Amino acid sequence: MGQRMTRRQVDEGLELYAGKNYDAAIKKWTISLQKMKDNRLRFSTLGYLAAASRDRGRNKDYLVYAVQQIDIAHEIDDNNLRAQAYLTLSRANEMLADYFKAVSYSRSAVQYSSPGESVQGYALLVMADSYIGLCNFSKVLECLDKALIISHEKEDRLMEIHVMSTMGKVYLALKDFTKALAFQRRAHELSLSYANSTVDQNADLSSKFVRLTKLKLATPMRLMGDYESATRSVEEAMRAATSVGDRPVQAKCLVCIGDIQRSQNNNEVACKKYEAAIPMLQDMNDRYSYTLAMIGLVKASLTLNTPKQTVTDILATALSTALAMGNKLMQARCHLLNESIYLSDNRMEEARQAHETAERLFQEADLVCSVCQKPMGMQSDHIQILTCTHIFHQRCITDLLQKWARQAQSCPKCHRNVLYSRSYIALVCI
Ligand SMILES: [Zn+2]
Ligand SMILES: [Zn+2]
Repeated sequence: MGQRMTRRQVDEGLELYAGKNYDAAIKKWTISLQKMKDNRLRFSTLGYLAAASRDRGRNKDYLVYAVQQIDIAHEIDDNNLRAQAYLTLSRANEMLADYFKAVSYSRSAVQYSSPGESVQGYALLVMADSYIGLCNFSKVLECLDKALIISHEKEDRLMEIHVMSTMGKVYLALKDFTKALAFQRRAHELSLSYANSTVDQNADLSSKFVRLTKLKLATPMRLMGDYESATRSVEEAMRAATSVGDRPVQAKCLVCIGDIQRSQNNNEVACKKYEAAIPMLQDMNDRYSYTLAMIGLVKASLTLNTPKQTVTDILATALSTALAMGNKLMQARCHLLNESIYLSDNRMEEARQAHETAERLFQEADLVCSVCQKPMGMQSDHIQILTCTHIFHQRCITDLLQKWARQAQSCPKCHRNVLYSRSYIALVCI
């Protein structure tokens, strides 16, 4: 096949994709690759295939295309392509919840790109998301800090939306729902204004961000008891996702609707939603959302007449997935659920052990406030992040702030002067 014809096939694939004929586009690109000789064209075609697989929730395929891109980048010895390929590879691993690999590949992406390039910002975002998975929040904040600066320098609105949204995820994990909601609101507003200002060629991308940020608003809304707004938000996201066949968002919406129903004591409906989401998430290899769905299913099942053994089995699966991902907070939440199951059976010693294990995991994730020595993220609370990226209960650090009027204004944990160790992200006023 001549190169011109191959090129035409790739373009036809792009047209099909723009017309939302995703499977036909993927088929076209796959066929064109077979006889494609030009390495740069191969590289970009693999990039289209990777993006399409990601949008369809085929995360394993996404990984395979990324690996093929790496080979080409090495073969033609081009650092820009290396950086791009490592970025795709790191995102693929992050989506498969393989966080250590994701961190290491995003480092390679940073290393091969020039300082301040957009690729660096996006690689830092993959790193931040992966460190959330690993519950290393100081690292998350360091990465977000640098990414926010790059997003402003490059005037990259999508990068900024992503930073705000990940910051919301940090506060959600720490159970400060007010701040989580504030950051998700900011992310959603930014994505709406981006959607209003973009031209047609970016319409798909901007509408993707609109539905994603809409979905992310629902969880803090629910946790603050505003079920009506949470339901409206997630249903809008679900409608938008369904209209374009966005399976990853559809599955996450199902989990979120399950959570809202569970919070309102509609546990049977909640179970059905989780049970619909779980096979989809398994199929996509999205272990993070899968574990959240399993935990939700356990909570809902506990209030129904589900046999205890069934519930314990589901919880054991959730715990083993959380362990495999290296996510200490999710492990801790599983142990706390085990504690409540033991308590309801009057198995006091086992309950105490489960509680101790959970507390130890909070300590290991460095989520103990060094002022009051109590865990953070176990119950809903107000959290304050200092400019050195250390995290405290808001009330604990406010007391210290008052004393600071007379003393050196240093962080109780690292003793750095918080006025001079400026973290950009910690200063973002929401
Ligand atoms: Zn405290
Ligand atoms: Zn500090």
